[in-house]
Amino acid sequence: LRMVSAQTQQNEQLSDEELRPASLDDFIGQPRLKEQMRLFLTAAQKRGVPPDHILLAGPPGLGKTTLAMIVANELGVPVRITSGPAIQHAGDLASILSSLDEGEVLFIDEIHRLPRAAEEMMYIAMEDFRVDVMVGKGPGASSIPLTLPRFTVVGATTREGMLPSPLRARFGFTAHLDYYPDDELRKLIHRSASVLEVSITEEAAAQLASRSRGTPRIANRLLRRVRDWGVVHDLDVIDEDAVQAALDLYQIDSQGLDRLDIAVLNAVCRQFNGGPVGLSNLAAMVGEEAETVETVCEPYLVREGFLIRTPRGRVATQKAWKHLGIVPPDDVNSLF
Ligand code: ATP
Repeated sequence: LRMVSAQTQQNEQLSDEELRPASLDDFIGQPRLKEQMRLFLTAAQKRGVPPDHILLAGPPGLGKTTLAMIVANELGVPVRITSGPAIQHAGDLASILSSLDEGEVLFIDEIHRLPRAAEEMMYIAMEDFRVDVMVGKGPGASSIPLTLPRFTVVGATTREGMLPSPLRARFGFTAHLDYYPDDELRKLIHRSASVLEVSITEEAAAQLASRSRGTPRIANRLLRRVRDWGVVHDLDVIDEDAVQAALDLYQIDSQGLDRLDIAVLNAVCRQFNGGPVGLSNLAAMVGEEAETVETVCEPYLVREGFLIRTPRGRVATQKAWKHLGIVPPDDVNSLF
């Protein structure tokens, strides 16, 4: 069972690759961000220097990794990929840094999770293009400063607030990715459908877009599940009925909320009487990690007006009660 699920995950990652646009022109939506990025990259190219470091911030699945690859592609330079959690010791980072080539892009996913010592090494590396390498052990150990070639860090984070300000200050450009409006997701679905060689009607694409939580990764994933439905039912074209049936099967509701979203809303309303409830209590109740609830579910639930964050905790809105189809009890802690 484990192997099957690892396999599925790997397939999904592979298809993430195949659906990944390679240039800024192919990147759908986020028009302002694209324009800023184009200006920033073109200026660096015209000046003949590697661009300043770039920070990409926003919820998961909105295209941070994709943009990092595009930056390298547009500049015509290689990209080295790592992540905050993958770097366990400052030494891991030192060896990556000291092997970089001039102009290379270093992509650090989840950069807010770098260990402290590595973070401090980054300050110097990003600003002075230098790293201090420790040689030897114990009392005889000494540090040798090593000059690095100029390179560009592209950092990605789902938790910009958790980045220490000295690190944040070392990025020359911060791009905030936001959820995609339905019309952009519709374009994205058509693009992915043509890569995957699936025909889909306008209406079906619109339906799929509206259930994708404003998130390209989810749109692509749902499209694949709908494609499965089409294959099994011998459909030549994916229509609205197919989308409806497939998404019902996968428990994606009319607003695009999935099982975890619904579990969170249910917990706030039913177990905590509408809130306010603290993040850790809420996460424990739905059996998820606090970070997942905070970065994956909440931003969307808040944006869509199902939940609000108050200093005392999360509170369900009227819209949440209504969506769950329950009447709030009289003593509900409602803000309305
Ligand atoms: P995470 O933070 O979890 O790493 P991410 O923000 O880096 O997520 P990506 O892996 O870049 O997300 O994107 C997820 C999928 O969505 C990829 O398959 C990518 O092809 C697609 N995608 C994302 N943004 C766009 C876009 N603007 N246009 C076309 N495809 C996109």
